[in-house]
Amino acid sequence: MLKVVQCWDDGVHDDIPLIEILRKYGARASFNLNPGLNKDKREGWYNQNLQKEVLRLASSELREVYEGFTIANHTVSHPKPLEIPLEQWRQEVVDGRKRLQDFFQQPVLGFAYPFGDFNDATAEVLREAGHVYGRTTKNATPCLPVENAMTFHADCHFLNEHFWERYEQAKQSPAQVFYFWGHSYELHTPQRWADFEACIQKIATDPESEWAELPALFTE
Ligand SMILES: [Zn+2]
Repeated sequence: MLKVVQCWDDGVHDDIPLIEILRKYGARASFNLNPGLNKDKREGWYNQNLQKEVLRLASSELREVYEGFTIANHTVSHPKPLEIPLEQWRQEVVDGRKRLQDFFQQPVLGFAYPFGDFNDATAEVLREAGHVYGRTTKNATPCLPVENAMTFHADCHFLNEHFWERYEQAKQSPAQVFYFWGHSYELHTPQRWADFEACIQKIATDPESEWAELPALFTE
């Protein structure tokens, strides 16, 4: 049976309709959050590429929006990992995990690198801080086994043109895990939303697949 895992970055308002779809099909997911960036009210930026405003959720919305889903660490403030001193990186990682655990009252075991950047030293900090994996933005099929779980490459981004090829390839691998990721704000047209729902429905109705939790891949 293929275990399908997914995660979504940055804690933005489009996570609300995304989660509605995930709930409809019983899908599980992890959300990679920056506890320093969800403020008293929604604040965001204009995304030139997508021609839309992207808003981070207000902190008061977070518990309700992510109820029943897994929270993972994406650092406190989303710095570029290799452009800050290592000690500052450590602070971002350690404080991010602690703040999320305190706020959501759940163990925070997963991590995603802001901008996908990492090296051996930044990766080691994750392990020391208590994470069981660190997701990059590279692709690897099969995604498991992985040599260093602190540099864990997903199979692909959800918009990858080879998504379904990789999904089928993952079924043939010994570990039988398929891992995809994305940002809900990339769902910027009605067509993309419809395609995304069809994707989740297809996985949910595939008799050879089941949803799984990311940290459990490393703890069970
Ligand atoms: Zn991010």
